[in-house]
Amino acid sequence: MEGLMQRRELLISSIIVHAARHHGEAEVISRREDGSIVRTDYRTIERRARRLVGVLRALGVKYGDRVATLAMNSDRHLELYYAISGMGAVCNTINPRLSTDDIAYIAAHAEDGLIFVDPCFVPLVEAVAPKLAGLLRAVVVLAEPAETPACDLPPGVAPHCYETLLAAAPEEPEWPTFDENTAAAMCYTSGTTGRPKGVLYSHRSAVLHAMMVNFADSIGLRAIDRIAAVVPMFHVNAWGLPYVAPMAGATLIMPGRHLDPANLLGLLNAERATVAASVPTIWLGLIAHLRETGESFRTLTRIVSGGAAFPRALIGEYARLGVSVSHAWGMTESSPIVTFNAPKPATAQLDAEALLDQQAKQGRVVYGVDVRAENEQGAEVPWDGRTPGNLLFRGHWVASSYYRQPETQVGVQGWFPTGDVGVIDEQGFVELTDRTKDLIKSGGEWISSIALENIAIGHPEVAEAAAIATPDEKWGERPLLIVVPRSGCAPEPDDVRKFFEGRTPSWSIPDRVIVTEELPHGATGKVLKSKLRALYANPPKP
Ligand code: AMP
Repeated sequence: MEGLMQRRELLISSIIVHAARHHGEAEVISRREDGSIVRTDYRTIERRARRLVGVLRALGVKYGDRVATLAMNSDRHLELYYAISGMGAVCNTINPRLSTDDIAYIAAHAEDGLIFVDPCFVPLVEAVAPKLAGLLRAVVVLAEPAETPACDLPPGVAPHCYETLLAAAPEEPEWPTFDENTAAAMCYTSGTTGRPKGVLYSHRSAVLHAMMVNFADSIGLRAIDRIAAVVPMFHVNAWGLPYVAPMAGATLIMPGRHLDPANLLGLLNAERATVAASVPTIWLGLIAHLRETGESFRTLTRIVSGGAAFPRALIGEYARLGVSVSHAWGMTESSPIVTFNAPKPATAQLDAEALLDQQAKQGRVVYGVDVRAENEQGAEVPWDGRTPGNLLFRGHWVASSYYRQPETQVGVQGWFPTGDVGVIDEQGFVELTDRTKDLIKSGGEWISSIALENIAIGHPEVAEAAAIATPDEKWGERPLLIVVPRSGCAPEPDDVRKFFEGRTPSWSIPDRVIVTEELPHGATGKVLKSKLRALYANPPKP
């Protein structure tokens, strides 16, 4: 209708264009592999990203193509986020902590023609490249020429140096415009079936999610904030922070691979971070370091934690250090934020102990998405803070299905089953109580119990095996393996553990192996993991 508001597509490139024009000097700070600090700003990032579009075109990338990154958080990774999505291609961030088998599976499933890689992950690419024959065309190392290692790649896969390509590329004069429902980014998540599943984000979903994250009752960044994006850019787009920070004009601080507590604290203090975001494992490590050294935070006032439950006791400990902790909940499938723990009038006045209980919950739903807790019959359970239900969500930034898995379709109006179980209280705060999945989450990374069981069963003396999660102070959860011997055998627990070496990444090897006569089975023949958990693992919550 005439006179109606303008229709402008919600494109990711518009975020960096805004940041370059209105917050051009806001800093982007990265720690390189050698520990050095590099400073740039949004104006420079936007210009280089336009140049990078020229590089991508020269390497044959077209609208809709998938391009992979295997990289930690840095200014160069940020440039890739904007250039790949901004030209209409799809930025497929791959988690370098996965096995080479899974990385090869993802790159093949996504049909990634190019991989951009940090120098430290070049050996990973060398291992997967031979499995991507006919698909992978080039590997670009994110470094200066002098820091670019020689790459041992199969014929047909060209090695390149990022800075050399950029220096030679023409600058694209402006960002292309296209439909906001174009695919922009893709992350794979470990599913219960054992193989990673692709989640495809659109420009529209990424921009709307980033706007929501900047609500006052969400992370709510301001131009005077300095946010440390500790959560990796290969995990749900670092919760959207690479979009959220430039949208607000906030300074963006990225630790690269230096995630150990001493380095992290040094970075937060030296770079005057006001806000930081990551998984509980990082915050547990940091508080242990502060206890040991007596050091303190100089400027940090808030941390945002998600990906696993944040222990209640630690919320109080951080508060005593002048740092408030906000819990957020979501999944790769939901971009990820669905709930954020910010007070309501009814919860703001609670006494100290009740307030801690409240803050330990995963939070309440933000505008743009919704949650329901259902019983086994699919009926919504009451919001009484007691009745658990299977949690489902839907909204502008929730997946309608997994990439190229139409059988998982819930549609755009459908409720996406999260696999989490929780209660919702009278005020709408969600609290996770369990999860239906049998996956194990250690240090923010999923470990597939099925994968561990498959390996264990390969042991010549093992007949049956089950892996379950046990609570762990440092890592959140660690895998415990329970095995039944083959008839006439008596496997040694240590020998079974050693069997995993070289068959799975070292951090996913079970900490303990228990040998038992029999595993409990349900009616359909499945191992009853709930029983095993009750027997061998302490309940995850007091
Ligand atoms: P991912 O897709 O790897 O981000 O994992 C999502 C899963 O992590 C969710 O389904 C939950 O089981 C768990 N999770 C995420 N946030 C929280 C939280 N704040 N508290 C407890 N578990 C969480």
